[in-house]
Amino acid sequence: MALATTQSLVLTFEDARRIVQDQASHVTPGRKEVLDLLPAAGRVLAESIAADRDMPPFPRSTRDGYAVRGADLAKLPVKLKVIGEIKAGPQAGQNRVALNRGETYSIMTGAPVPLGADAVVMVEYSEPQGDFVEITKGATPGENIVSQGAEARHGSLLIETGAVLNESAIALAASVGRSKLNVFARPRVAVLSTGDEIVAVDGEIGPTQIRNSNTYSLAVQIGRGGGEPVLLPIAPDEPGRLRQLIEEGLQSDLLIMTGGVSMGRYDLVEQVLTDLQAEFFFTGAKIQPGKPVVFGRVLSSAGASRTEPSPAASSKDRYTYFFGLPGNPISTMVTFELFARPMLEALAGMRPRPLTFFHARLKSEIRVKTGLTRFLPAILSDQYEATQVELVSWQGSGDIAARARSNCYIVVPADREQIAVGEWVAVMLSQ
Ligand code: AMP
Ligand code: MG
Repeated sequence: MALATTQSLVLTFEDARRIVQDQASHVTPGRKEVLDLLPAAGRVLAESIAADRDMPPFPRSTRDGYAVRGADLAKLPVKLKVIGEIKAGPQAGQNRVALNRGETYSIMTGAPVPLGADAVVMVEYSEPQGDFVEITKGATPGENIVSQGAEARHGSLLIETGAVLNESAIALAASVGRSKLNVFARPRVAVLSTGDEIVAVDGEIGPTQIRNSNTYSLAVQIGRGGGEPVLLPIAPDEPGRLRQLIEEGLQSDLLIMTGGVSMGRYDLVEQVLTDLQAEFFFTGAKIQPGKPVVFGRVLSSAGASRTEPSPAASSKDRYTYFFGLPGNPISTMVTFELFARPMLEALAGMRPRPLTFFHARLKSEIRVKTGLTRFLPAILSDQYEATQVELVSWQGSGDIAARARSNCYIVVPADREQIAVGEWVAVMLSQ
């Protein structure tokens, strides 16, 4: 279905997204590297991690209290002989201590439950009386005990290749003794902003010029998506220099361009890519903001030759994918999230995952034209059942200030013209 020319191919949001996901499912992540536990946080695991022993490794008390034999508590209150105390940590002897009828151990949270005990009674239901303790409440078998291996059996899979190492994955790796982890190298993502009016952030600026902000929003989003941004200089709307910079960008694992993809006379990106024998999967999506989004790929050998081995290069993966994102800053941000991100995540070795939405009640009516799926900057407020959401007022997809006031996007389906106050709407969080 790919095109070799810039003949327009405008897809629905769903179709465009499906194509990206399909292409993403064919890319292979690149090199692996070994990192210490903490520097591996946020990275993508390039191995699977198994339990090095039963978890917990012994029946663990979840409370401070008394380890008991449930049968001893048939009649209450009951006096049990306290034969010792079990703390969390190394025990005197190799084996767990044992409990006989009529006896109890005082036990701490996290400590191994003695043999013979089948429950722990919380300290709140006890009254020490010299060498004895009076227990005032019964216990069901297993109460306040996590049995050995209940969380995971020795050898069972805990974290799969492709998982993002968030705090719980890092904790789990630590808990099985992994101080070093194999992770995928971050794919290098070239960022190329185009436009004669665009000026570097610290450059001199004329009254009708615009500072480059897209390079920076993209760099942030790329970093968050697991990539390493490679910032290219701003490309003018001039085919020669633009081509040079696009060829440079194609040496990375992924190229993301902004601007120059609309219908204007100086929107040259697609033309230059066509000259580079690009294959286009789509040149537009029925969305707002971000309609002129372009997705395609170039055979690596057709672009400039790679000067150094790229982390994501492999014999099967000879294409460099590119996105031409519309230049309006909110369009750039939205189209990155919707389309570029799944490709980046695949190159980073992450398992594919769906876009995450949740629902909130609409605070003020929305009226739009049908035909486009809209991702409109909005403010989510209040909490719990009262959570509600409303559009921010904005001057369109160039209004970064409005976007900065927002904390999410409301997703308006393409067939909706009006959404009433109080209706449930889909919300996409923006970090
Ligand atoms: P274009 O997609 O090239 O037609 O640009 C659409 C709008 O986005 C224009 O108003 C541009 O000035 C603006 N724009 C394009 N590139 C950038 C950029 N890198 N940073 C900020 N604004 C941009
Ligand atoms: Mg432009």
